Amino acid sequence: KSFDELGLKPELLKGVYAMGYNKPSKIQETALPVIINSNENLIAQSQSGTGKTAAFTLGMLNTVDTNLNAPQAICFSPTKELALQIFEVISNIGKFSSIKPLLYIPEVDLPNKIENQIIIGTPGKLFDGITRRKILTKHVKMIVLDEADFIVASRGMQQQIGSIKQFLPQNTKVCLFSATFSLGVDQLISAMVPDPKVSLR
Ligand code: AMP
Repeated sequence: KSFDELGLKPELLKGVYAMGYNKPSKIQETALPVIINSNENLIAQSQSGTGKTAAFTLGMLNTVDTNLNAPQAICFSPTKELALQIFEVISNIGKFSSIKPLLYIPEVDLPNKIENQIIIGTPGKLFDGITRRKILTKHVKMIVLDEADFIVASRGMQQQIGSIKQFLPQNTKVCLFSATFSLGVDQLISAMVPDPKVSLR
Protein backbone atom coordinates (compact mmCIF):
# COMPACT_ATOMS: atom_id res chain seq x y z
CA LYS A 1 0.00 0.00 0.00
CA SER A 2 1.05 3.60 -0.47
CA PHE A 3 0.27 6.66 1.67
CA ASP A 4 -2.02 7.91 -1.13
CA GLU A 5 -4.43 5.03 -0.47
CA LEU A 6 -4.95 5.69 3.23
CA GLY A 7 -7.49 8.49 2.97
CA LEU A 8 -5.21 11.21 4.32
CA LYS A 9 -6.01 14.86 3.62
CA PRO A 10 -3.80 16.34 0.84
CA GLU A 11 -1.92 18.71 3.17
CA LEU A 12 -1.01 15.76 5.42
CA LEU A 13 0.11 13.65 2.49
CA LYS A 14 2.36 16.53 1.53
CA GLY A 15 3.72 16.59 5.08
CA VAL A 16 4.39 12.86 5.05
CA TYR A 17 6.34 13.04 1.80
CA ALA A 18 8.24 16.11 3.01
CA MET A 19 9.39 13.98 5.96
CA GLY A 20 10.95 11.65 3.42
CA TYR A 21 8.60 8.76 4.14
CA ASN A 22 8.00 6.79 0.95
CA LYS A 23 5.62 4.12 2.10
CA PRO A 24 3.67 3.44 5.29
CA SER A 25 5.18 1.16 7.90
CA LYS A 26 3.16 -1.89 8.96
CA ILE A 27 1.59 -0.16 11.96
CA GLN A 28 0.72 2.89 9.86
CA GLU A 29 -0.87 0.75 7.17
CA THR A 30 -3.00 -1.17 9.66
CA ALA A 31 -3.81 1.53 12.23
CA LEU A 32 -4.56 4.50 9.98
CA PRO A 33 -7.62 3.01 8.23
CA VAL A 34 -9.08 2.17 11.65
CA ILE A 35 -8.47 5.70 12.91
CA ILE A 36 -9.56 7.47 9.74
CA ASN A 37 -12.38 5.36 8.32
CA SER A 38 -14.05 3.71 11.29
CA ASN A 39 -15.69 4.57 14.58
CA GLU A 40 -13.85 1.76 16.30
CA ASN A 41 -11.45 1.99 19.19
CA LEU A 42 -7.96 0.73 18.58
CA ILE A 43 -5.49 -1.26 20.62
CA ALA A 44 -2.11 -1.74 19.07
CA GLN A 45 0.98 -3.55 20.21
CA SER A 46 3.83 -1.47 18.96
CA GLN A 47 7.40 -0.80 20.02
CA SER A 48 9.39 2.37 19.42
CA GLY A 49 10.97 2.37 15.98
CA THR A 50 7.94 0.97 14.18
CA GLY A 51 6.57 4.34 13.10
CA LYS A 52 3.78 4.38 15.69
CA THR A 53 4.23 8.07 16.48
CA ALA A 54 3.60 9.05 12.88
CA ALA A 55 0.66 6.61 12.82
CA PHE A 56 -1.25 8.22 15.66
CA THR A 57 -0.17 11.79 14.95
CA LEU A 58 -1.42 11.44 11.36
CA GLY A 59 -4.58 9.90 12.78
CA MET A 60 -5.14 12.89 15.07
CA LEU A 61 -4.28 15.44 12.37
CA ASN A 62 -6.65 13.79 9.94
CA THR A 63 -9.49 13.54 12.47
CA VAL A 64 -9.72 17.13 13.64
CA ASP A 65 -11.87 19.78 12.01
CA THR A 66 -9.57 22.66 11.10
CA ASN A 67 -12.48 25.12 11.17
CA LEU A 68 -13.16 24.49 14.83
CA ASN A 69 -10.70 26.17 17.19
CA ALA A 70 -11.17 23.94 20.23
CA PRO A 71 -9.50 20.77 21.57
CA GLN A 72 -10.52 17.74 19.50
CA ALA A 73 -7.72 15.23 20.03
CA ILE A 74 -5.67 14.64 23.18
CA CYS A 75 -2.55 12.52 23.41
CA PHE A 76 -1.36 11.21 26.79
CA SER A 77 2.33 10.52 27.07
CA PRO A 78 4.00 9.07 30.21
CA THR A 79 6.97 11.46 30.16
CA LYS A 80 7.52 15.06 29.18
CA GLU A 81 10.48 14.11 26.97
CA LEU A 82 8.28 11.75 24.99
CA ALA A 83 5.49 14.34 24.85
CA LEU A 84 7.96 16.82 23.38
CA GLN A 85 9.05 14.30 20.76
CA ILE A 86 5.43 13.67 19.77
CA PHE A 87 4.82 17.41 19.63
CA GLU A 88 7.77 17.78 17.27
CA VAL A 89 6.60 14.96 15.00
CA ILE A 90 3.09 16.37 14.82
CA SER A 91 4.36 19.90 14.15
CA ASN A 92 6.56 18.56 11.35
CA ILE A 93 4.11 16.23 9.65
CA GLY A 94 1.36 18.82 10.03
CA LYS A 95 3.37 21.78 8.79
CA PHE A 96 1.25 22.21 5.64
CA SER A 97 -1.98 22.17 7.64
CA SER A 98 -3.37 25.04 9.71
CA ILE A 99 -3.45 22.84 12.81
CA LYS A 100 -1.32 24.05 15.69
CA PRO A 101 -0.73 21.49 18.44
CA LEU A 102 -0.30 22.47 22.08
CA LEU A 103 2.29 20.88 24.35
CA TYR A 104 1.14 20.63 27.96
CA ILE A 105 3.85 19.40 30.30
CA PRO A 106 5.19 20.59 33.66
CA GLU A 107 6.60 24.13 33.43
CA VAL A 108 4.15 25.07 30.68
CA ASP A 109 1.17 27.33 31.38
CA LEU A 110 -2.10 26.97 29.54
CA PRO A 111 -3.33 29.93 27.51
CA ASN A 112 -6.58 31.45 28.76
CA LYS A 113 -8.52 30.24 25.79
CA ILE A 114 -7.30 27.08 24.12
CA GLU A 115 -7.80 27.27 20.38
CA ASN A 116 -5.47 24.36 19.57
CA GLN A 117 -7.21 21.33 18.10
CA ILE A 118 -4.63 18.86 19.37
CA ILE A 119 -3.07 18.72 22.84
CA ILE A 120 -0.14 16.49 23.76
CA GLY A 121 0.78 16.19 27.39
CA THR A 122 1.62 14.20 30.46
CA PRO A 123 -1.25 12.53 32.36
CA GLY A 124 -0.81 14.76 35.43
CA LYS A 125 -1.02 18.05 33.54
CA LEU A 126 -3.86 16.87 31.31
CA PHE A 127 -5.77 15.56 34.33
CA ASP A 128 -5.33 18.94 35.99
CA GLY A 129 -6.39 20.91 32.92
CA ILE A 130 -9.40 18.71 32.23
CA THR A 131 -10.72 18.37 35.77
CA ARG A 132 -10.32 22.11 36.38
CA ARG A 133 -12.16 22.59 33.09
CA LYS A 134 -9.42 24.70 31.60
CA ILE A 135 -9.32 22.20 28.76
CA LEU A 136 -12.75 22.04 27.17
CA THR A 137 -13.58 18.44 26.27
CA LYS A 138 -16.95 18.98 24.58
CA HIS A 139 -15.49 18.67 21.09
CA VAL A 140 -12.97 15.91 21.78
CA LYS A 141 -13.25 13.16 19.17
CA MET A 142 -10.29 10.99 20.03
CA ILE A 143 -7.64 10.34 22.64
CA VAL A 144 -4.36 8.51 22.27
CA LEU A 145 -2.73 6.65 25.15
CA ASP A 146 0.88 6.18 24.15
CA GLU A 147 3.19 3.72 25.92
CA ALA A 148 0.35 2.41 28.04
CA ASP A 149 2.75 -0.03 29.72
CA PHE A 150 4.65 2.95 31.15
CA ILE A 151 1.46 4.75 32.11
CA VAL A 152 0.23 1.82 34.21
CA ALA A 153 3.63 1.42 35.85
CA SER A 154 2.65 4.54 37.78
CA ARG A 155 -0.42 4.20 39.97
CA GLY A 156 -0.90 7.97 39.87
CA MET A 157 -0.92 8.17 36.08
CA GLN A 158 -3.19 5.16 35.79
CA GLN A 159 -5.72 6.78 38.14
CA GLN A 160 -5.49 10.15 36.39
CA ILE A 161 -6.30 8.60 33.03
CA GLY A 162 -9.08 6.46 34.47
CA SER A 163 -10.83 9.46 35.96
CA ILE A 164 -10.65 11.49 32.75
CA LYS A 165 -13.10 9.24 30.97
CA GLN A 166 -16.12 10.82 32.64
CA PHE A 167 -15.16 14.18 31.13
CA LEU A 168 -15.02 12.92 27.56
CA PRO A 169 -17.92 12.70 25.13
CA GLN A 170 -19.38 9.20 25.15
CA ASN A 171 -18.29 8.27 21.64
CA THR A 172 -14.71 9.48 21.96
CA LYS A 173 -12.43 7.17 20.02
CA VAL A 174 -9.68 5.66 22.17
CA CYS A 175 -6.40 4.53 20.60
CA LEU A 176 -4.04 2.72 22.93
CA PHE A 177 -0.47 1.82 22.09
CA SER A 178 1.70 -0.42 24.21
CA ALA A 179 4.87 -2.39 23.65
CA THR A 180 3.84 -5.05 26.16
CA PHE A 181 0.55 -6.17 27.68
CA SER A 182 0.66 -6.68 31.41
CA LEU A 183 -2.29 -7.16 33.75
CA GLY A 184 -2.14 -3.41 34.39
CA VAL A 185 -2.46 -2.60 30.71
CA ASP A 186 -5.41 -4.99 30.44
CA GLN A 187 -7.06 -3.21 33.38
CA LEU A 188 -6.53 0.15 31.69
CA ILE A 189 -8.05 -1.29 28.53
CA SER A 190 -11.10 -2.55 30.47
CA ALA A 191 -11.53 0.90 31.99
CA MET A 192 -10.93 2.98 28.88
CA VAL A 193 -11.67 0.71 25.92
CA PRO A 194 -14.23 -1.84 27.10
CA ASP A 195 -15.04 -3.01 23.59
CA PRO A 196 -11.98 -2.67 21.39
CA LYS A 197 -13.20 -3.69 17.97
CA VAL A 198 -9.77 -3.66 16.50
CA SER A 199 -6.88 -5.20 18.29
CA LEU A 200 -3.53 -5.31 16.57
CA ARG A 201 -1.59 -7.54 18.91
P1 AMP B 1 8.63 5.69 16.16
O1 AMP B 1 8.28 4.23 16.08
O2 AMP B 1 7.43 6.53 16.19
O3 AMP B 1 9.57 5.95 17.30
O4 AMP B 1 9.40 6.08 14.80
C1 AMP B 1 10.67 5.59 14.48
C2 AMP B 1 11.33 6.33 13.32
O5 AMP B 1 10.76 5.95 12.06
C3 AMP B 1 11.24 7.85 13.38
O6 AMP B 1 12.54 8.36 13.21
C4 AMP B 1 10.38 8.22 12.18
O7 AMP B 1 10.78 9.45 11.61
C5 AMP B 1 10.58 7.08 11.22
N1 AMP B 1 9.42 6.78 10.37
C6 AMP B 1 8.12 6.76 10.74
N2 AMP B 1 7.31 6.40 9.71
C7 AMP B 1 8.13 6.18 8.65
C8 AMP B 1 7.89 5.76 7.29
N3 AMP B 1 6.67 5.51 6.84
N4 AMP B 1 8.97 5.63 6.48
C9 AMP B 1 10.21 5.86 6.96
N5 AMP B 1 10.51 6.26 8.20
C10 AMP B 1 9.48 6.41 9.06
